[in-house]
Amino acid sequence: MDMHAMSPHHSIHPQLPPFYLHKSLYFVRKLEHLDVPRLSMLLFVIRKLDEEDAIRYAIILILPTRLPPRPFILSLSQKGKIVPHQGQLEASLASTSGRDSAVIARTGYGKTLCIAIPLLLEPGTITLTVSLLKRLQMMQVRDFMQKYNIPTITINKDTPQSPELWAKMAKGEIPHLIVQPEQFRMNHGHLPRLARLLNDRGFSSKITCVAIDEAHNIYTAGTVIDGRPAFRPAWGALGELRVKLPKTTTLQALSATMPGYIYRTIHQNLGFRSDSLIISASINRPNIIYATHVLVDGRRNLHNLHCIIPDPFHPPMCLPKIVIFHGEKIETSNVSQYLNARLPEPFQKLGICRHYHSDMSPEYLEATYSSFASSDGLVLILSATSGAGEGLNVPEVNGVINFGLPKKVAEDKDDPDRPLLSTGLGKKNPIKQERVGTAAVRLATCPGCKRAVYAKFMEDESDDALDFTCLWCCDGHPGNRFSLAKLFLGPIHTANIRLVTKRKRNKYRPVKDRQALV
Ligand SMILES: [Zn+2]
Repeated sequence: MDMHAMSPHHSIHPQLPPFYLHKSLYFVRKLEHLDVPRLSMLLFVIRKLDEEDAIRYAIILILPTRLPPRPFILSLSQKGKIVPHQGQLEASLASTSGRDSAVIARTGYGKTLCIAIPLLLEPGTITLTVSLLKRLQMMQVRDFMQKYNIPTITINKDTPQSPELWAKMAKGEIPHLIVQPEQFRMNHGHLPRLARLLNDRGFSSKITCVAIDEAHNIYTAGTVIDGRPAFRPAWGALGELRVKLPKTTTLQALSATMPGYIYRTIHQNLGFRSDSLIISASINRPNIIYATHVLVDGRRNLHNLHCIIPDPFHPPMCLPKIVIFHGEKIETSNVSQYLNARLPEPFQKLGICRHYHSDMSPEYLEATYSSFASSDGLVLILSATSGAGEGLNVPEVNGVINFGLPKKVAEDKDDPDRPLLSTGLGKKNPIKQERVGTAAVRLATCPGCKRAVYAKFMEDESDDALDFTCLWCCDGHPGNRFSLAKLFLGPIHTANIRLVTKRKRNKYRPVKDRQALV
């Protein structure tokens, strides 16, 4: 952390009381009745404080006061209170104090709050959030509206053209816009409406923050890598916003995938200023067990998936909630059909296993996703392409299976939901084959602890990078007696492993010849 030291608050602002935890409730109650100008003044003062004090103040005092009254009162007394953790506050303070920042944190870290806090703190300003997929944008809108009471709208090609809506936006009455990067510049010979609106000084001068979610796309989707053209060049052109927006607007790049070489590309591309910050939390997910398994005869042999639905399957056996990721769309439907057919007849047509990819209708995808995400939905096994499944936000999933390793990268430039490149995470200067899954191959085939290898790929050096809360850490963990079979209802298919030996193959085939692994 390279936050520079600020003067102790006592000397500059003697009027502000020193921070005492037991008095905090009193301050909160007082602040609740502060009007907006006075609150802004207070915030201005707090920002001049020593960083650590400012963070404490912000935790206890500031955030709740901008929330609507009822949730705020509830937040004082009940479990559901929104207390940002230190990283979220550091990220928010960076944005509100005019510093660019990179936030490196795993999915589920609460990056939404890093974007919400500056908005809550500074009424009257506009934040643009750059976001990857339309489906994710809808979920983000829901979050901002329901949790934080922040009016939010998505800007993509489906945004209504209604003059009233755009007039409201131009006046700055919608503080938060979630935008696909293509909306900022000429696209297929057409200048999108938002791009035109950015030329309106009255509008653009209100934009104080631009948050770029999944910012690794600046590298993976937006730059020419190894001679291959960028497939979403708009990601690579986000730096142009520097020219279109006020000098004081801060940029914040958020991602779980930001090893050094990706960070450097982002830093350069967005023209980060010299006082920019890196806020990094562990990308470790302690509730995941990493394991790999050799597929017998490769991906074509669907016997490999019998462990999910055993034969005979009979209720009250309880199917776990599982996502299976595939490299090809056709495979998603083959597998869901196959698995449904393994269920007892009365259950076969209920849609317990469903396929999920970008060629399906939005209605089908929405219905399937909601059913899978809900705790009492019928869909329990989702067979998805990795592109369509990216960013699925489903609580209480029991398992994620990558059926085979990524081999091929789709070339369809017009499909924004296409699978992203698997980046060569292990190297400073990744070359072509690393983008087609070498990182995944290495992770799957490495000896020893997979969590440690993953942390190394991601350059995660935090204290909790190797923590785990499950029975096992991973299948390669020395001496932990891992058993894959205990994670599934049915037996693990291993019949052919002896056959491989019979053919007298080399014990270790070259990586490129190896069959896919689960
Ligand atoms: Zn391990």
